[in-house]
Amino acid sequence: MAISITFHGAAGTVTGSKHLVEVRHRDGDVRRVLLDCGMFQGEAVDRGKVDPNRHFGFDPAAVDAVVLSHAHIDHSGLLPRLVAEGFRGAIHATAATRDLCAIMLEDSANIQEADHAYDLKRAKRQGRALDEPGPLYTVDEVRPAMERFEAYDLNKPFPVVPGVTCTLTDAGHILGSAAVHLTIDDGERVLHLTFSGDVGRYVDRLLPEPAPFPQADVIVCESTYGDRDHPGVAQAEEELLHHVREACVVRKGKLLIPAFSIGKTQEILYTLNSLSNQGLLPRIPVFVDSPLAISATEIVRRHSRAFRPAVRAELDRDADLFSFPGVEFVRNPERSKQLNSRQEPCIVIAASGMMEAGRIRHHLRHGLPNARNTVLAVGFCAPGTLGHEILEGREVVHIFGEPVPVKAAVHRMGFYSAHADRGELLRFLGCQDPARVRKLFLVHGIKSSLEGLRDQCAAAGHRDIAIPHKGQTFTL
Ligand SMILES: [Zn+2]
Repeated sequence: MAISITFHGAAGTVTGSKHLVEVRHRDGDVRRVLLDCGMFQGEAVDRGKVDPNRHFGFDPAAVDAVVLSHAHIDHSGLLPRLVAEGFRGAIHATAATRDLCAIMLEDSANIQEADHAYDLKRAKRQGRALDEPGPLYTVDEVRPAMERFEAYDLNKPFPVVPGVTCTLTDAGHILGSAAVHLTIDDGERVLHLTFSGDVGRYVDRLLPEPAPFPQADVIVCESTYGDRDHPGVAQAEEELLHHVREACVVRKGKLLIPAFSIGKTQEILYTLNSLSNQGLLPRIPVFVDSPLAISATEIVRRHSRAFRPAVRAELDRDADLFSFPGVEFVRNPERSKQLNSRQEPCIVIAASGMMEAGRIRHHLRHGLPNARNTVLAVGFCAPGTLGHEILEGREVVHIFGEPVPVKAAVHRMGFYSAHADRGELLRFLGCQDPARVRKLFLVHGIKSSLEGLRDQCAAAGHRDIAIPHKGQTFTL
């Protein structure tokens, strides 16, 4: 006869999204639904004394079901670990999220295994025992997690556990992303709880804008950019074309675009494809140098039903919105290495977006010392990452332990952010009558973003706003 929520991640930080809803029925029956099962990344891991990715803070075997907002690793990355530790329920998500998780989680498992092997080697060299028991999870542990997925369409209610039904609405953040709406009946009353997941943009892109959602009693909302607005978003094509001409035609160098494999890479290809169709794109080779991005692009193609109506209509004239004359998708590592020594003007799109991992590091190591080249950053680079150092204007950075002089031009474009800014988060919440929202929780942000959004929401009429800390429980 009580409903509660405990915040086990993305509470005061941006990663590790994990919120546990518990419903106690009159007969003593308790049901537990986990919203997201994300991995902690970057500073969130370094700060803690115990690795937060190895301690859930609850018993995975006691969780009855998971509802997953989208496939990004900071929302889905611990699902294999949850299953390995005894979770036996269903993982509810959209079909596109399931398909993306299959490649994301396998890629993540490969990284976990490689990191563990590296730690082992280093510990051995230093003559000490390694104090971690093994990789966080292995490639073999991904399949049992994938088998637990159950896929649903948007806007169609489905049962989660006795007393709880769920409806997913479009969050417009990446392919498959959804806001989660639970209707919870504990036998005495009915409570409507909304979890935003990550909220997308209200700009002209591949995906539709975030959908309005039914009135909620309790809302858990992300706050990534809760304290700022994105700069000039309207003229993406023009701006990208300007960078391409400047970098490849005027300076006759390479244009290196570090981009997340899922979301950003497809958005950029879509813009380049559109420029190509209009005859505006200079005749320069474009290399998509990321196996994960290539797999992700194939999945995005399969789910073209999820595009904005105007983009779907374009498919009648152009069956492939991500491919155009001059583009080459590079899976083969040998081919990738050839690109490093290439001198002619070209565009290289490679992961990772923060420049911390993936093939982009090789391109940067070879490309940064040449003043003819250009680096175009299209996403958020967290403090402490290589991308952040390059954007800060460092004259020398370190890649693979070697000093690399930064002679290349460095630019950034704000348009491709997949996260709503302050104004867009308020617009997302604007479909609600704030007087009827009993409690608004702000999660998934750093302190200044959380507090900035709190003030804006208070001004918009929300009365009870909380910024939970990790492990905090609220009775609803
Ligand atoms: Zn996300």
